[in-house]
Amino acid sequence: MKYNQSNIKKAKKYLDKGDCIGVPTETVYGLAANAYSSLAVKKIFKLKKRPHNNPLIVHYSNIKSLKKDCLINNSFTKLYKKFSPGPITFVLKLRKDSKISKYVINKQKNLAIRFPKHNLFKNLLNKLDYPLAAPSANISNKLSSVMASDVKEEFGTKIKYILDGGKCKIGLESTIIDLTNKPTILRLGGLGVKEIQNTLNKKIYTSIKPKKKIMPGQSLFHYSPGIPLKTNMKKPLIDGAFLLIKERKTILNNYYYLSKNKNLDEIAKNLYSCLRKMKNKGYKSIAIEKIPNKGLGKTINDRLNRASKY
Ligand code: AMP
Ligand code: MG
Repeated sequence: MKYNQSNIKKAKKYLDKGDCIGVPTETVYGLAANAYSSLAVKKIFKLKKRPHNNPLIVHYSNIKSLKKDCLINNSFTKLYKKFSPGPITFVLKLRKDSKISKYVINKQKNLAIRFPKHNLFKNLLNKLDYPLAAPSANISNKLSSVMASDVKEEFGTKIKYILDGGKCKIGLESTIIDLTNKPTILRLGGLGVKEIQNTLNKKIYTSIKPKKKIMPGQSLFHYSPGIPLKTNMKKPLIDGAFLLIKERKTILNNYYYLSKNKNLDEIAKNLYSCLRKMKNKGYKSIAIEKIPNKGLGKTINDRLNRASKY
């Protein structure tokens, strides 16, 4: 692995100056900046071409620093103990005396927060005296980045530094749960709704359909590879690539596979990088085999359905 303490120091130097950098997380790469600095946060929106009414997720390394910005409740404490650090984002009430830049939340009173698990990111957060706003490191509505090279492909020389933490272990964005009222899932993600339900032991609502007030994770056109994508396919379209969920002995040139044996964790981990590779090879379309709609498969299908609306 290419990282060490000097890379973390370098990352900190850029962040302290108010720059945006690429950071690795266990879900997907983030485009990070000081969440207390409006100047730094505005750069994220500009780089991603993200509409200003789409709030950002803020990342913390510990509860003590979170409590400076948010009010916590029982449901949060239960889920935090069980799943954090990890692929779960909580929407909580913002404290009146919080220092979070108003640009992070577009004047809302709630803040989405997460405790990332990637060692390098955790290590970096521990060295900072501010939390990091970090949406996924991709141009709005395009494929998320799961490797440092993807981040480079998205932003080129427009960002000064990418902290390389290898390929993301999960490969899909976090699950978002709103805890400001009745617990409500806002985005399916790397953590199953069943696990959350079992821990809270009460009814969980879902609100993942696109709304009038556009939020990127809920947008119908999100996660697009930039070429037509067809789901539940048995063969490729003309000039297209075919993405299988299980390795086959004999494989044609335009056939790719996501896992050795239909393993959903492996499929999730390889999904975005496979789609990116196919697009870069110049195929005109991507056909993908049916993905079992259970566990992580639900999140994968959610992303593919949105990507196929392109
Ligand atoms: P990403 O750009 O991939 O990090 O996606 C962040 C997701 O979190 C988007 O779907 C946002 O709409 C959602 N989000 C961020 N902040 C909030 C918030 N305060 N309330 C509800 N959703 C939020
Ligand atoms: Mg995103």
